[in-house]
Formats: sequence, C-alpha cells, structure tokens
Amino acid sequence: MEKVTAPVPSSPSPSDLSAYWMPFTANRDFKAHPRMLVSAEGMYYRDDAGNAVLDGTAGLWCVPLGHSQPRIVSAVQKAVATLDYAPSFQMGHPAAFELADRLRDYTGGRFSQIFFTGSGSESVDSALKIALGYHRARGEPTRTRFIGRERGYHGVGFGGMSVGGIPGNRKTFHASLLPGVDHLQHTHDLARNAFSRGVPQHGAELADELERLVTLHDASNIAAVIVEPVSGSTGVLIPPVGYLKRLRDICTKHGILLIFDEVITGFGRLGTPFAYDYFDVMPDMVTTAKGVTNGVVPMGAVMVQPHVYDAFMHGPAGIELAHGYTYSGHPLACAAGLATLDIFEQDGILEHAQSVVEYWHDAAFALRDAPNVIDIRAIGMVIGIELAPRAGQPGARAFEAFRRAFADGLLIRVTGDIIALSPPLVIEKAQIDELFDKLGKVLRSLD
Ligand code: PLP
Repeated sequence: MEKVTAPVPSSPSPSDLSAYWMPFTANRDFKAHPRMLVSAEGMYYRDDAGNAVLDGTAGLWCVPLGHSQPRIVSAVQKAVATLDYAPSFQMGHPAAFELADRLRDYTGGRFSQIFFTGSGSESVDSALKIALGYHRARGEPTRTRFIGRERGYHGVGFGGMSVGGIPGNRKTFHASLLPGVDHLQHTHDLARNAFSRGVPQHGAELADELERLVTLHDASNIAAVIVEPVSGSTGVLIPPVGYLKRLRDICTKHGILLIFDEVITGFGRLGTPFAYDYFDVMPDMVTTAKGVTNGVVPMGAVMVQPHVYDAFMHGPAGIELAHGYTYSGHPLACAAGLATLDIFEQDGILEHAQSVVEYWHDAAFALRDAPNVIDIRAIGMVIGIELAPRAGQPGARAFEAFRRAFADGLLIRVTGDIIALSPPLVIEKAQIDELFDKLGKVLRSLD
C-alpha cells in the first residue's frame, strides 16, 4: 500500500476547549483530560504529543482502507477543484449516477437503486419513510408500524432512535419517540453462547417472537422490521445460527419489509461486501454509510431491491418520494466513494481481510483467561470482549481500559463493559500482535 507522509499540524492543540459541545462524549471529563488526534496515516493516528496510536476501531467503524489513502485524497482534491457542490433536487451530476451504478454492481445487481443520504442516521430515517411510501403506493396505507430490536442502534434521528433499543439513548427523549413501534428481544445470551467463535449456536427461536408481534398488531398494520445483522454499537451481538433466515421468512410470509441496517457491517467488515452476503439472507432494503467513502466525506445510502423502487414508479407523474437532503450525492462524497470502491477491487481488500481473519480471532481468544473477561465474540473483522462490571459501577472498568489503552498508543471502543474492536481491514498480522499485546497488558493492569 502506498504511503503518504501525514502533514505535521500547523497549530498546537487549542487551550480553550469550552466552545465545542462534543457528541456522545462526557464533555466535562474530556475537557479535563483531553485526548487529541492531530493526523492519521494507514493504521495509525498521531496524538498531539506526537505519539502513534494504533487504530483498533477504524475511527468509528468507518475507515476500512486505513487513513489518508492517497487515491482517495487525490480523488477528493480533484473533485473539489472541479465541482464543489451540485444541487441534488431536480438536478444531477455524473459522479452520483456513476457511484450508484458502481454500488449496484458491488451488490451483484441485487439492489437496483441507491438513495444517497449524508449519514447512517439519515439512511435509517430514509428507509423507514421509504417503507411507509412503499405500502401506501401499493394500496396498504395502514401498514405504518415498525419493529426494531432491543439493544439495536440505528442512529439518532427520531425514527432511528425509536426503532433502536439502547435504553440510555432513549431515556431522555422517551415521551417523543415515534408511536407505533415495537421491539423484538435482543439475542445476547451469555449463559448459552459465551465464548462462541463465529455465529453462536443458541437462540434462533427468538426470531419467532416476530410471529407473536404480528399476531398482536396484525400484519396489515406493520410496515417493516429493522435490525442490524450484527449489532455493533451495543457491543458486538452476533445473531444465532438461523435467526436472520427465520426473520426473513416471517417477514415474507406477512408482506413485511425487512431492512438490514448495515451502517457498520457494510463494506467488508465481515469479510464479505455486506453482512447479507455473509448470512445469505436478502433484506428488501439495506441502510449503509461510513465505509462507503472510507469515512473521508460524510455519506450514507439506502439500497433497495427492484420491487421497492418500482412501487413508487407507477403513481402520478411528478416527484415520487418527497424526501431528500441538500447533501444527497455530494460531489466530494461521490468522488471518495468511487475511489473507495476502486481500492476495494484493485487491492483485494476483502481477500486480505479473509487472509488474516483466523489470526485475528486466535489473537482475541488468547485473552479468554485475562482478568474479568466473561465473553469474547468474534465474527469477520469484529471482536467483542465483555468484562464483568465493577460492583455498582457499570461501564467503569471498560472505560478505564479505554483510557489506559489510549495512553499506551491504542484506540479501542467501549460500550458499557464491552470492548469492541474493528480495525481497518488492511491491518497486518504484526499490527494484530501489537493490538492484542497492548490490550492484554491493559486488561491485566485493571482491578
Ligand atoms: N446504524 C448503525 C447500525 C450504526 O452503527 C450507526 C452508527 O454507528 C448509525 C446507524 C448512525 O450512523 P451515523 O452516526 O452516521 O448517523
């Protein structure tokens, strides 16, 4: 892989951190003990003290190709100097059509139309609205109910938050969540599935709960079921063998759309283009974002099967879907997306990920006897390591691991007491060794 020399930042870290209200961050704690990244290249960030920090999380799961990829940098530079912005309503520009076409090819033609958004949250809310429009266009306007899943994360819009199932994200906004949403039970089962390597054995029957919800609400009122094929943000929950297929069958039986939220699992995270390939289960729609541009320019997308798009194309002439964003199909995002797909193909990124995946899982499972480890979960290039919580202090142990790892030059992600690891797919074996060597030391240092 080519190297770029990451530029040395021109200004030192700011002394006043007060103006920036940081997202999903303990602002007061951070501003008292900042962790500042100033440049990035390949598998490493550099902090403001000049230390290299191994990226164990691909940023926020969004940098599959590693940082400052020269071909993406130059594609975006060229794009900004050519067409900095183009309106996406009633106007087009070539790169948006080209990227949609290339993404359709990347799905093997199974998803025929691509609706561009600016983020994962926008993709989810767009997909929910498309589901409503789909049923209405087909003469079933009572199908308005959505079914999500406990512990699911679908971003932070009101739609995504409502179908999501992470209590801490919902609590403050509880009274204003979308009406008409129900949730399946999550599939996390430490008692039966702890230390499963790959897809766990137990729990396919949890999908049958969908039948119960269909009986309760009646299929004629249900628009869509949305799940992450592998839940990421809640701490790497891998679906049991057969679970997703059962969900698919029940949705098909009752005319309910199935949406896979692949914001994290898309673009190679499991070693296949998408998780639906890995599990061999076809949803009607896929929401994606993050890796589509290697995280370089914000972008998301909803990919739909032909029957979804076609349902909208038989109505009266005019705008078929009254929905879209100022930045849908932004020229810079399209340039980054096209370069990203080129690199996936030309550099054999999936093949590389597949060639290191066993090594990656072996290295993770070598930590099974480390103190406080109560589960390790592994699928593709994702690992979840669950720690026993400290009595009366949920999340404290893992957060301390996060702090110590960063101080030792390793970026990990924690959610509750679960450590989630999802490095760029270009990681080499020596860097896998470095990652687990550092993490093992951290775990052994914690009380
Ligand atoms: N859906 C899933 C499955 C995600 O993991 C995320 C973000 O991590 C989102 C949606 C929201 O994406 P964004 O933060 O780009 O809005």
